[in-house]
Amino acid sequence: MTANRAWRLRRRPEGELAEGDLELVAEELAPLRDGEALVRNELLSLDPTNRIWMSAIRGYMPPVPIDAVMRGLGVGEVVESRREDMPVGSKVSGFVGWQEYSIAGPDPLGGPETVLPDPLPAPLSAFLGALGHTGVTAYIGVDLAGLKEGETIVISAACGAVGSIAGQIARDRGARAVGIAGGPEKCRHAVEDLGYDACVDHRAEDWREQLAAAVPDGIDVDFENVGGEIMDEILMHLNIGARVSLCGMISEYNEYTGENSSAGLRNVGQLIMQRASMQGFLVLDYADRFEEAIGYLAGLLGDGKLTYDETIVEGGIEAAPDALAQLFTGANTGKLLVRL
Ligand code: NDP
Repeated sequence: MTANRAWRLRRRPEGELAEGDLELVAEELAPLRDGEALVRNELLSLDPTNRIWMSAIRGYMPPVPIDAVMRGLGVGEVVESRREDMPVGSKVSGFVGWQEYSIAGPDPLGGPETVLPDPLPAPLSAFLGALGHTGVTAYIGVDLAGLKEGETIVISAACGAVGSIAGQIARDRGARAVGIAGGPEKCRHAVEDLGYDACVDHRAEDWREQLAAAVPDGIDVDFENVGGEIMDEILMHLNIGARVSLCGMISEYNEYTGENSSAGLRNVGQLIMQRASMQGFLVLDYADRFEEAIGYLAGLLGDGKLTYDETIVEGGIEAAPDALAQLFTGANTGKLLVRL
């Protein structure tokens, strides 16, 4: 028997995640069956979508059932195995859940399923960020928009896990990349370290004027991570034939309390006026392009053309719920992880 600690979802959050929505429980894991491996989870990935999974809105995956272990991605090491493809000592990634140990069995949503390369070509944490699902999200989102050299792309949550990589891919494609980020320090980082051509501080009073000044030739591509009033303002600058890659709308997720999700946008009509298109996408649908995307990003990294940031919260499994809040206050820079 293995002693495990896990966060179980006790009720659906109303607004921000609050104490009592999740409960940390100590429990024993049953002995392994054939075809299962026991994984000691090392790093937990915190993603804005964790908040979506806690809610009952019409989502892209079933909500986490009440009383179930909270769903989450992560990486870990196999410590006991009755699976030939996962020998003891292998590093694995996938749906480890918000817990210290997970069981990799037949259900890919119920445990990690990807065996990482041995030896690892980059630090383990990178496989949850720049060389993991958020890096691939950036790659797919830019690619779907057909971003071309010389075009202007605006990227919201520009210093986050997805945005920071999207900005550097845009630069590699020869586009003019304008970031939107919270605060002067993040904007400095965006321009000086990540290579954005300009950055709009959405916390400044004059952020609308800053945006207008940063896109004198309009916007060809919006890589949208935030939604809400920031997206509404971006829509007012779209050029004819612009493309919106709708990746996320984090500004709304804490409003997901009932079954309806959105307060709504006011300027969607601009898609008509500017003959623009908007495509929502989910990285999960692009499993067949992960190799291509990670190969490209690893190439940039090897050439010294990719900076990746991480905010790693120490403090073990206890820290997960409080750490999640960082995504909504903007306390994180780059990929947010909890070390278990
Ligand atoms: P980030 O690392 O970007 O963290 C979230 C950031 O969003 C914060 O740091 C903050 O940055 C910004 N933010 C939060 N609330 C607001 C707000 N109300 N207004 C403006 N900015 C806000 O997270 P990820 O990179 O993991 O995710 C970014 C987006 O991509 C999310 O919308 C997520 O749902 C989406 N996503 C979509 C995927 C897909 O397959 N479609 C896959 C992965 C992520 P700041 O300090 O700059 O305000």
